[in-house]
Amino acid sequence: MKTYNLTKEDKELIEKAKEIIVKSKPVNLIDTGDVGAALITSKGNIFQGVCIGHYCGIGSCGEYQAIGAMISNGEKIIKKIVAVWYDEKRKRYEVIPPCGKCREMIHQTSKKNWDSEVIISSSKKVKLRDLMPYAWDGTIERK
Ligand SMILES: [Zn+2]
Repeated sequence: MKTYNLTKEDKELIEKAKEIIVKSKPVNLIDTGDVGAALITSKGNIFQGVCIGHYCGIGSCGEYQAIGAMISNGEKIIKKIVAVWYDEKRKRYEVIPPCGKCREMIHQTSKKNWDSEVIISSSKKVKLRDLMPYAWDGTIERK
């Protein structure tokens, strides 16, 4: 898999993911706000979200919230995206790759998101297409 080194813009986006974790802390819900996500669109706008840990299968990942905010604001092309987990025990942040559902969500949102840059660690990023080498070709874009 081809990987790329992080740029200054990538590192700034990681800080945006950390920022939303801190911002969500006052809600004080179990398993909520431990992961923050931030994305930058093709137009240069930044959207953020945190994971929601509600029980009964109704919770969702931080990337879901960030993508939902992007769509709600009329955009669907993700230039780059990152998720950061705050490890409460060790009091430190860790960049984590998106789960399978989030990879699929990025993909279904726009075919152009095959070229989205996904930051997978504190030093590397990849293209979405490389995280989903045998993905089906479905998107929900209107023709
Ligand atoms: Zn996810």
